[in-house]
Amino acid sequence: CIANGSPQYRTDGTFAGYIGACVDITVQKQLQQQKDDFIGIASHELKTPVTSVKAYTQVLERMLLKKGETVEASMISRMDLQLNRLTSLIGDLLDVTKINTGKLQFNDREFDFNEHVKELIEDLQRTTEKHTLIEDLKPTGMVYGDKERIGQVITNLVTNAIKYSPNAGKIIIHSAIENNEVTLCVQDFGIGIPQENLGQVFEQFYRVSGTMQHTFPGLGLGLYISSEIIKREGGRIWVTSKVGEGSTFCFALPIANPDR
Ligand code: ADP
Repeated sequence: CIANGSPQYRTDGTFAGYIGACVDITVQKQLQQQKDDFIGIASHELKTPVTSVKAYTQVLERMLLKKGETVEASMISRMDLQLNRLTSLIGDLLDVTKINTGKLQFNDREFDFNEHVKELIEDLQRTTEKHTLIEDLKPTGMVYGDKERIGQVITNLVTNAIKYSPNAGKIIIHSAIENNEVTLCVQDFGIGIPQENLGQVFEQFYRVSGTMQHTFPGLGLGLYISSEIIKREGGRIWVTSKVGEGSTFCFALPIANPDR
């Protein structure tokens, strides 16, 4: 029950008592639970058929290429790209369910941070011809954390930088060590984010509205998942941005193994 109230006074100014309201939030909690359950079940059910369709498209593409039917093969390859998008959206929904139920798994170990960043940049560069991903990587050495989950955050930030800079060609990925923390920043020169929306971009399902942003596809989950991962790894995530000039998303993680 959420209670609030205010003192009431008679016309002569003497205290008459309190009027208060107690709002029962059981229904809201049930609705939230139903929403979380629905997202969990729906995304789980979507995953199986999409995985199966994807396997068939890959076989089909190989068969068509073997027969020399390149036009048909390239159509299948485009279908495969869209299936990747669908797989990633379903993956985000599954991650949100795991976060909401405290079941997001972490497998922390030591890994070479810059090496991993370089591998990811190489893969991400293949997804865009319009943008050049520039590395500005200062020596970082080994970092303790979940390599895949941290990679997921970097991929999210770079994918957003590409998506929200439709006309700009360059994206810079900076890494460095400062005060026993490894920092990674993704700087783009795209559409930017209004100051009044900066505080909300890490919220679940939040998308900046009323600007160009809404013309780009998305569920508003990538940054929420990223901030949950970074928080669980004991780090911080933040953004600076200017409309029309671009955005810089950064995170900092402690480099030391907490058990040592
Ligand atoms: P999505 O991109 O799927 O909408 P995100 O959680 O990744 O979801 O981002 C939330 C919102 O923050 C986006 O909808 C967009 O409005 C804004 N945003 C994120 N990254 C950028 C960026 N690099 N430049 C401009 N706006 C961004």
